Amino acid sequence: MPNPKKLKFVCTRCGNCCTDKNTLVNVTHLDILRIVKGLKLSLEESLEIFGFYVYIETLNNNILKKMVISPIETEKGLAFIGLIKNDKNECYFYDGKNKRCLIHSLRPMFCRSFPFSFIPLRGKDNRSEKKIEIIYTEKAIEYCPGIGNDAPLIDVDDWINLANKTLSELEDNYSFNENWNISVKNKEIPPSAKNYIRRIFKLIEG
Ligand code: SF4
Ligand code: SF4
Repeated sequence: MPNPKKLKFVCTRCGNCCTDKNTLVNVTHLDILRIVKGLKLSLEESLEIFGFYVYIETLNNNILKKMVISPIETEKGLAFIGLIKNDKNECYFYDGKNKRCLIHSLRPMFCRSFPFSFIPLRGKDNRSEKKIEIIYTEKAIEYCPGIGNDAPLIDVDDWINLANKTLSELEDNYSFNENWNISVKNKEIPPSAKNYIRRIFKLIEG
């Protein structure tokens, strides 16, 4: 396991991660909840910001296991949810003129975690104690200048805290999406994007 004390990072605000044409910012239901509440969006406005991207390829179990955010059943097939793109194929929330994120304090976990991936590991003695491996993502290695040799070492405690929060939210999201998929399979709810977002709004209403 790479030593996290040797990882380096400082964001240079180059914008590469927000403008990558080949990346969609995948969101969990909790990311959606934070953005909807923070921006006080209506249901209709939310549907204009969160895209439902249907998989063209058939997803086998191996692919499904590798997915960090589980897909949901929709009327058009399995889909994942992501922030939509602007007309330049950049993130909708990227302000290119000022090189900044317009929803910085509400940005999804995907963005908070970049340039790292967090991998949960079980302790060697197989107790329930969890350890977390932190690695650079492939995209970060490809284009993030903030992980260069000149960057400072990361504050490992801060990143481990974020990793714990991220992994816990991913588990919550897995259950939320699993419940949705079961409701759809049992024909309890029509699998529209609107109904999925509506289910998240119900969490706000309590
Ligand atoms: S690619 Fe790296 S340095 Fe550039 S904005 Fe993203 S995190 Fe910051
Ligand atoms: S939400 Fe913000 S940080 Fe994330 S990709 Fe969009 S502009 Fe960048």
